[in-house]
Amino acid sequence: MSVSLFFAPVKVLLLAAAVFIPFERLAGLHQAQRVFRQGWVTDLLTGLINGLLLFSVLLLALGGIDAMAAAGASQLRHWIETRPLPAQCLLALVVGDLGVYGIHRLEHTVPWLWRFHAVHHSAEEMDWLVGFRFHPLDLFLVRIASLGPLVALHLAPPAIAFFIAVSAWQSWLVHANVRIRYGPLRWLFVSPEFHRWHHSAGREARNKNYASLVAGWDVVFGTVHLPGGRRPLRYGIDEPVPAGWIARFFHPFKRRPMTLK
Ligand SMILES: [Zn+2]
Ligand SMILES: [Zn+2]
Repeated sequence: MSVSLFFAPVKVLLLAAAVFIPFERLAGLHQAQRVFRQGWVTDLLTGLINGLLLFSVLLLALGGIDAMAAAGASQLRHWIETRPLPAQCLLALVVGDLGVYGIHRLEHTVPWLWRFHAVHHSAEEMDWLVGFRFHPLDLFLVRIASLGPLVALHLAPPAIAFFIAVSAWQSWLVHANVRIRYGPLRWLFVSPEFHRWHHSAGREARNKNYASLVAGWDVVFGTVHLPGGRRPLRYGIDEPVPAGWIARFFHPFKRRPMTLK
Protein backbone atom coordinates (compact mmCIF):
# COMPACT_ATOMS: atom_id res chain seq x y z
CA MET A 1 0.00 0.00 0.00
CA SER A 2 1.54 3.30 -1.01
CA VAL A 3 2.15 6.04 1.56
CA SER A 4 -0.04 8.49 -0.39
CA LEU A 5 -3.00 6.12 -0.01
CA PHE A 6 -2.61 6.38 3.77
CA PHE A 7 -2.19 10.14 3.80
CA ALA A 8 -5.13 10.94 1.52
CA PRO A 9 -7.77 10.22 4.24
CA VAL A 10 -5.57 12.02 6.81
CA LYS A 11 -5.44 15.14 4.62
CA VAL A 12 -9.21 15.06 4.05
CA LEU A 13 -9.78 14.69 7.77
CA LEU A 14 -7.53 17.62 8.67
CA LEU A 15 -9.24 19.79 6.07
CA ALA A 16 -12.69 18.88 7.43
CA ALA A 17 -11.52 19.58 11.00
CA ALA A 18 -10.15 22.98 9.95
CA VAL A 19 -13.56 23.91 8.54
CA PHE A 20 -16.03 22.28 10.91
CA ILE A 21 -14.47 22.84 14.36
CA PRO A 22 -14.60 26.66 14.00
CA PHE A 23 -17.95 26.42 12.14
CA GLU A 24 -19.53 24.55 15.09
CA ARG A 25 -18.04 27.07 17.55
CA LEU A 26 -19.49 29.99 15.62
CA ALA A 27 -22.90 28.58 14.68
CA GLY A 28 -23.45 25.83 17.26
CA LEU A 29 -26.99 24.55 17.86
CA HIS A 30 -26.14 22.80 21.14
CA GLN A 31 -23.77 25.43 22.59
CA ALA A 32 -22.73 23.37 25.60
CA GLN A 33 -21.51 20.45 23.48
CA ARG A 34 -17.73 19.92 23.62
CA VAL A 35 -15.40 19.58 20.58
CA PHE A 36 -13.82 16.52 22.17
CA ARG A 37 -17.06 14.86 23.21
CA GLN A 38 -17.31 11.25 24.30
CA GLY A 39 -16.30 8.81 21.55
CA TRP A 40 -14.61 11.31 19.21
CA VAL A 41 -11.40 9.25 18.96
CA THR A 42 -13.29 6.13 17.83
CA ASP A 43 -15.24 8.13 15.22
CA LEU A 44 -12.04 9.65 13.87
CA LEU A 45 -10.32 6.26 13.78
CA THR A 46 -13.38 4.76 12.05
CA GLY A 47 -13.16 7.41 9.32
CA LEU A 48 -9.47 6.67 8.68
CA ILE A 49 -9.85 2.88 8.75
CA ASN A 50 -12.92 2.93 6.49
CA GLY A 51 -11.01 5.05 3.97
CA LEU A 52 -8.17 2.53 3.88
CA LEU A 53 -10.32 -0.62 4.00
CA LEU A 54 -12.78 0.33 1.30
CA PHE A 55 -10.61 2.02 -1.33
CA SER A 56 -9.38 -1.09 -3.18
CA VAL A 57 -12.52 -3.17 -2.61
CA LEU A 58 -14.70 -0.41 -4.03
CA LEU A 59 -12.46 0.08 -7.08
CA LEU A 60 -12.69 -3.65 -7.81
CA ALA A 61 -16.47 -3.81 -7.38
CA LEU A 62 -17.07 -0.67 -9.46
CA GLY A 63 -14.78 -2.05 -12.19
CA GLY A 64 -17.00 -5.13 -12.34
CA ILE A 65 -20.17 -3.01 -12.58
CA ASP A 66 -18.59 -0.93 -15.37
CA ALA A 67 -17.67 -4.03 -17.39
CA MET A 68 -21.17 -5.54 -17.04
CA ALA A 69 -22.91 -2.29 -18.00
CA ALA A 70 -20.58 -1.82 -21.01
CA ALA A 71 -21.73 -5.20 -22.29
CA GLY A 72 -25.44 -4.61 -21.64
CA ALA A 73 -26.24 -0.90 -22.12
CA SER A 74 -23.72 0.52 -24.57
CA GLN A 75 -26.18 2.80 -26.43
CA LEU A 76 -27.47 4.48 -23.26
CA ARG A 77 -23.90 4.89 -22.01
CA HIS A 78 -22.84 6.51 -25.27
CA TRP A 79 -25.78 8.96 -25.13
CA ILE A 80 -24.97 9.92 -21.54
CA GLU A 81 -21.24 10.35 -22.09
CA THR A 82 -21.94 12.86 -24.88
CA ARG A 83 -24.06 15.14 -22.61
CA PRO A 84 -22.45 18.42 -21.40
CA LEU A 85 -20.47 18.15 -18.15
CA PRO A 86 -22.82 20.37 -16.03
CA ALA A 87 -25.76 18.11 -17.03
CA GLN A 88 -23.72 15.04 -16.08
CA CYS A 89 -22.86 16.61 -12.69
CA LEU A 90 -26.53 17.29 -11.99
CA LEU A 91 -27.47 13.77 -13.07
CA ALA A 92 -24.76 12.38 -10.78
CA LEU A 93 -26.22 14.19 -7.74
CA VAL A 94 -29.81 13.17 -8.45
CA VAL A 95 -29.15 9.54 -9.44
CA GLY A 96 -26.41 8.98 -6.85
CA ASP A 97 -28.65 10.23 -4.06
CA LEU A 98 -31.54 8.09 -5.27
CA GLY A 99 -29.18 5.14 -4.73
CA VAL A 100 -28.42 6.39 -1.21
CA TYR A 101 -32.15 6.79 -0.52
CA GLY A 102 -32.89 3.23 -1.67
CA ILE A 103 -30.16 1.44 0.28
CA HIS A 104 -30.68 3.62 3.36
CA ARG A 105 -34.40 2.78 3.41
CA LEU A 106 -33.54 -0.92 3.07
CA GLU A 107 -31.11 -0.62 5.97
CA HIS A 108 -33.96 0.62 8.13
CA THR A 109 -36.35 -2.11 6.97
CA VAL A 110 -34.30 -5.31 6.68
CA PRO A 111 -33.30 -6.43 10.20
CA TRP A 112 -29.87 -7.89 9.33
CA LEU A 113 -28.93 -4.72 7.43
CA TRP A 114 -30.10 -2.59 10.37
CA ARG A 115 -27.58 -4.40 12.59
CA PHE A 116 -24.79 -2.73 10.61
CA HIS A 117 -26.52 0.64 10.21
CA ALA A 118 -27.30 0.78 13.98
CA VAL A 119 -23.63 1.67 14.53
CA HIS A 120 -24.23 4.99 12.77
CA HIS A 121 -27.41 5.66 14.75
CA SER A 122 -25.75 4.97 18.10
CA ALA A 123 -24.52 8.61 18.25
CA GLU A 124 -26.19 10.50 21.09
CA GLU A 125 -24.45 13.81 20.38
CA MET A 126 -24.46 15.14 16.83
CA ASP A 127 -21.37 16.71 15.31
CA TRP A 128 -19.39 16.53 12.04
CA LEU A 129 -17.43 13.47 13.25
CA VAL A 130 -20.64 11.39 13.30
CA GLY A 131 -20.32 11.60 9.49
CA PHE A 132 -17.49 9.04 9.88
CA ARG A 133 -19.31 6.65 12.22
CA PHE A 134 -20.23 3.85 9.82
CA HIS A 135 -19.63 0.13 9.98
CA PRO A 136 -17.44 -0.65 6.90
CA LEU A 137 -20.12 -2.92 5.41
CA ASP A 138 -22.75 -0.18 5.78
CA LEU A 139 -20.47 2.32 4.03
CA PHE A 140 -19.58 -0.20 1.32
CA LEU A 141 -23.26 -0.76 0.51
CA VAL A 142 -23.98 2.98 0.42
CA ARG A 143 -21.01 3.60 -1.88
CA ILE A 144 -21.99 0.79 -4.25
CA ALA A 145 -25.65 1.89 -4.32
CA SER A 146 -24.66 5.48 -5.14
CA LEU A 147 -21.49 5.17 -7.25
CA GLY A 148 -22.53 1.92 -8.97
CA PRO A 149 -25.30 3.54 -11.06
CA LEU A 150 -23.02 6.47 -11.98
CA VAL A 151 -20.31 4.10 -13.22
CA ALA A 152 -22.90 1.92 -14.98
CA LEU A 153 -24.29 4.98 -16.80
CA HIS A 154 -20.72 5.89 -17.81
CA LEU A 155 -20.81 9.41 -16.40
CA ALA A 156 -17.56 11.33 -16.96
CA PRO A 157 -14.93 10.96 -14.19
CA PRO A 158 -15.20 14.71 -13.28
CA ALA A 159 -18.98 14.30 -12.78
CA ILE A 160 -18.39 11.27 -10.51
CA ALA A 161 -15.63 13.16 -8.66
CA PHE A 162 -18.08 16.06 -8.21
CA PHE A 163 -20.63 13.68 -6.65
CA ILE A 164 -17.97 12.23 -4.30
CA ALA A 165 -16.80 15.70 -3.19
CA VAL A 166 -20.35 17.00 -2.60
CA SER A 167 -21.28 13.79 -0.73
CA ALA A 168 -18.23 14.05 1.56
CA TRP A 169 -18.91 17.69 2.36
CA GLN A 170 -22.59 16.91 2.91
CA SER A 171 -21.83 13.96 5.19
CA TRP A 172 -19.98 16.29 7.62
CA LEU A 173 -22.39 19.20 7.22
CA VAL A 174 -25.64 17.33 7.89
CA HIS A 175 -24.23 15.81 11.10
CA ALA A 176 -22.59 19.04 12.27
CA ASN A 177 -23.74 20.80 15.42
CA VAL A 178 -24.72 23.93 13.48
CA ARG A 179 -27.79 26.07 13.17
CA ILE A 180 -28.39 27.02 9.52
CA ARG A 181 -31.72 27.99 8.00
CA TYR A 182 -32.49 26.75 4.46
CA GLY A 183 -35.91 28.45 4.23
CA PRO A 184 -38.15 26.87 1.58
CA LEU A 185 -35.08 25.15 0.08
CA ARG A 186 -35.21 22.68 3.01
CA TRP A 187 -37.80 20.71 1.00
CA LEU A 188 -35.30 20.32 -1.85
CA PHE A 189 -31.85 20.03 -0.25
CA VAL A 190 -30.90 17.97 2.80
CA SER A 191 -30.00 20.32 5.69
CA PRO A 192 -28.52 19.59 9.14
CA GLU A 193 -32.06 20.12 10.51
CA PHE A 194 -33.42 17.49 8.06
CA HIS A 195 -30.82 14.87 9.01
CA ARG A 196 -31.00 15.60 12.75
CA TRP A 197 -34.60 14.40 12.62
CA HIS A 198 -33.35 11.16 11.01
CA HIS A 199 -31.18 10.64 14.12
CA SER A 200 -33.96 11.55 16.59
CA ALA A 201 -34.59 9.05 19.39
CA GLY A 202 -38.30 10.01 19.32
CA ARG A 203 -40.95 7.87 17.64
CA GLU A 204 -42.43 10.66 15.48
CA ALA A 205 -39.36 10.79 13.22
CA ARG A 206 -38.77 7.05 13.06
CA ASN A 207 -37.76 5.85 9.58
CA LYS A 208 -37.98 9.29 7.94
CA ASN A 209 -35.59 11.52 5.96
CA TYR A 210 -33.45 8.91 4.17
CA ALA A 211 -31.90 11.17 1.50
CA SER A 212 -28.45 12.63 1.97
CA LEU A 213 -28.41 15.37 -0.70
CA VAL A 214 -31.81 15.68 -2.39
CA ALA A 215 -34.55 16.09 0.24
CA GLY A 216 -36.97 15.99 -2.70
CA TRP A 217 -36.59 12.19 -2.79
CA ASP A 218 -38.19 11.93 0.67
CA VAL A 219 -40.92 14.36 -0.42
CA VAL A 220 -41.62 12.25 -3.54
CA PHE A 221 -41.67 8.94 -1.63
CA GLY A 222 -43.64 10.28 1.35
CA THR A 223 -40.96 9.78 4.02
CA VAL A 224 -40.21 13.41 4.86
CA HIS A 225 -40.43 14.74 8.44
CA LEU A 226 -39.65 18.44 8.88
CA PRO A 227 -41.81 20.05 11.57
CA GLY A 228 -40.95 23.75 11.66
CA GLY A 229 -39.71 25.50 14.80
CA ARG A 230 -38.86 22.34 16.74
CA ARG A 231 -35.87 20.06 17.07
CA PRO A 232 -35.38 16.51 18.38
CA LEU A 233 -35.23 16.24 22.18
CA ARG A 234 -32.59 13.55 22.07
CA TYR A 235 -30.58 11.47 19.56
CA GLY A 236 -29.69 7.79 19.35
CA ILE A 237 -31.32 4.38 19.64
CA ASP A 238 -32.51 2.16 22.48
CA GLU A 239 -30.19 -0.81 21.75
CA PRO A 240 -26.72 -0.48 23.26
CA VAL A 241 -23.81 -0.30 20.77
CA PRO A 242 -20.30 -0.77 22.23
CA ALA A 243 -17.82 2.10 22.26
CA GLY A 244 -14.48 0.87 20.85
CA TRP A 245 -13.67 0.27 17.16
CA ILE A 246 -13.12 -3.51 17.46
CA ALA A 247 -16.24 -4.10 19.60
CA ARG A 248 -18.30 -1.99 17.18
CA PHE A 249 -16.94 -3.89 14.17
CA PHE A 250 -18.09 -7.25 15.59
CA HIS A 251 -21.33 -5.92 17.13
CA PRO A 252 -23.58 -6.69 14.09
CA PHE A 253 -22.45 -10.33 14.06
CA LYS A 254 -23.45 -11.05 17.67
CA ARG A 255 -26.32 -13.47 18.17
CA ARG A 256 -29.37 -11.59 19.45
CA PRO A 257 -33.02 -11.04 18.50
CA MET A 258 -33.51 -9.11 15.23
CA THR A 259 -34.86 -5.63 15.98
CA LEU A 260 -35.28 -2.39 14.06
CA LYS A 261 -34.96 1.24 15.19
ZN1 LIG B 1 -30.33 5.81 9.00
ZN1 LIG C 1 -26.50 10.26 9.84
